[in-house]
Amino acid sequence: MALSDKLSTNIRKVVPYEAGEQPQRKVTKLNTNENPYPPATGVEEVLSNMALGALRLYPDPASKNLTQTLADYHQVKENQLFVGVGSDDVLALCFMTFFNSGKPILFPDISYSFYKVWADLFKVPYICPPLDREFRLKAEDYWQENGGIIFPNPNAPTGIYEDLSFIQNILDKNKDVVVIIDEAYIDFAGVESAASLIRRYENLLVVRTFSKSHSLAGLRVGYALGSQGLISGLNRVRDAFNSYPLDTVAQSCAGAAIRDVDYWEGTRRRITATREKTRERLLETGFLVPPSQANFLFVEAGDAKGFCDALWKHKILVRWWDQPEIRSFVRVSVGTEEDMEAFVQCARRFWKEQPTKRQ
Ligand code: PMP
Repeated sequence: MALSDKLSTNIRKVVPYEAGEQPQRKVTKLNTNENPYPPATGVEEVLSNMALGALRLYPDPASKNLTQTLADYHQVKENQLFVGVGSDDVLALCFMTFFNSGKPILFPDISYSFYKVWADLFKVPYICPPLDREFRLKAEDYWQENGGIIFPNPNAPTGIYEDLSFIQNILDKNKDVVVIIDEAYIDFAGVESAASLIRRYENLLVVRTFSKSHSLAGLRVGYALGSQGLISGLNRVRDAFNSYPLDTVAQSCAGAAIRDVDYWEGTRRRITATREKTRERLLETGFLVPPSQANFLFVEAGDAKGFCDALWKHKILVRWWDQPEIRSFVRVSVGTEEDMEAFVQCARRFWKEQPTKRQ
């Protein structure tokens, strides 16, 4: 018997998450929702002032300074906060920690595709209720018996945001399970975070990241906010798995980034303004583009694969999924004004050259 045959069935069968391409040459990169602007200058200062000797020692296992900075920022207690190596790491630990009742967890059929991978890996059964025609979640789908709930808000890859009353409804109907709101894109929504509800709902966990609004995808820092009970569960699992998850550089740089509120508020405003302008221009051209409250647009292009190929001829990289419900859409991250100008020009050409396909 080959050694690989001895791997457990779920390890052999799991289909790993396919991350967006990270090309090594220069392209207009609109495929992984990175921030087109550099991180705050405070991050650069931390990096240039860091003594090399600091790397000789293990990092603070509890990331105390960063946790304190985040707790102050969100006006919660330190024991209501958990930090990890990007929100992917935090979310994977959440699946391990909270989704093991044996009952199916619920997440929308169109949402972050990593959820299915973690569920399969950790043998968590799941049900994926379909979104409605406007890509909205239907609250009643989340009233059935379940082993936990997770969805991104704003959703990905649609960019659609559900308001706090929707989330409260889900929380009220699901007091016995953990409800996770993945707020990777919330800073681009211009609305209140569900973090304001953690005092009222002990079963709510809000997961956030430095990768998008804080321009630090390369640093890998994410965090969760929740009741003390949920956070202590995450700490237990983390310490049973990897007790030094966040490196010294990441802990210091993330702290500097979050403190410079004026800077990241500024880049956030620029990105949302570019998003709205780009959407307008695409709508004028004839594309169907649902309103987005994230740092990307979900663009109905008919022959979406053909659209991706046409863009790639001009070194513009976007993302497309071969999934029946969304096969005619591409997801386009909002880049600089210049990036989006290049994208819109190509999109217009593509639209003109393919008129018959969308009658
Ligand atoms: N949640 C959602 C909805 C995302 O789109 C992403 C980015 N791929 C993540 C979480 C993970 O982000 P990160 O690990 O960079 O924090």
